[in-house]
Amino acid sequence: MSAIIQVKNLVKKYGNFEAVKGISFEVKEGEIFGLLGPNGAGKTTTLEIIETLREKTSGEVIVDGFDLDKHPNEIKNIIGVQLQAAGYYPNLNLKQIIDLFAGLYNREVDALALLDTVNLRDKAKNKFKELSGGQKQRFSIATTLINDPKIIFLDEPTTGLDPQARRNLWELIKQLRQRGCTVVITTHYMDEAEELCERVAIVDAGQIIALSTPNDLIDELLATGFQRKKEVKAANLEDVFLNMTGREWRES
Ligand code: ATP
Repeated sequence: MSAIIQVKNLVKKYGNFEAVKGISFEVKEGEIFGLLGPNGAGKTTTLEIIETLREKTSGEVIVDGFDLDKHPNEIKNIIGVQLQAAGYYPNLNLKQIIDLFAGLYNREVDALALLDTVNLRDKAKNKFKELSGGQKQRFSIATTLINDPKIIFLDEPTTGLDPQARRNLWELIKQLRQRGCTVVITTHYMDEAEELCERVAIVDAGQIIALSTPNDLIDELLATGFQRKKEVKAANLEDVFLNMTGREWRES
């Protein structure tokens, strides 16, 4: 598969502080690529530079053949980005917000069908502020799909969600990949990265310290003789919780 995103020697300085220290990586077309790292590692900064939302200090970013420096608008056309809550006009309901964005993108969108994909059809007439945390996350993922993008960027999409909602969002993200979308995701949940990502980059203090498939990274660690201290049971507390409370969407 060819690279749909190429990042070369990307540097971002905030004043004297270098948040991103010359990182390079490629995302292949059609994969789910994870950026993992502790708080402050530089994940959001890197994503927002690729999304054309932040200025880089130096380096090169090519998205689907378009150079970020020369063709930012072409890049904007083919990517889906989760908006910050402030973007969701407070007096409009969910259907109206989707219709508004569809108009801005000059696209025909079936708002109710789109809300169905994130199980929010029942909330079509509600305002964004009337949604629960999980519902807000789901709505923000729906809005990334309005312009039928080639690449979707998801910054910690399942933070704050209950176990059912997380799993259902994982299914949604896998469906997006099946449609041919490339997905770039940041997460602090390693189970999520293992479940979803073909490849992950581990970012620490502005540098990529590992980049491979989750499986290969685990095998490399095991090859050093690493062993978990505790015997792992074949189920965990989350399995108990899901078994008792079901796997369907909640709080809708
Ligand atoms: P988290 O997991 O907490 O979201 P992150 O990996 O996404 O973290 P960034 O938000 O990219 O990290 O931040 C990287 C570093 O750059 C942090 O030390 C942060 O304080 C700093 N930083 C981010 N934005 C700015 C800004 N606008 N001005 C100054 N420093 C900033």
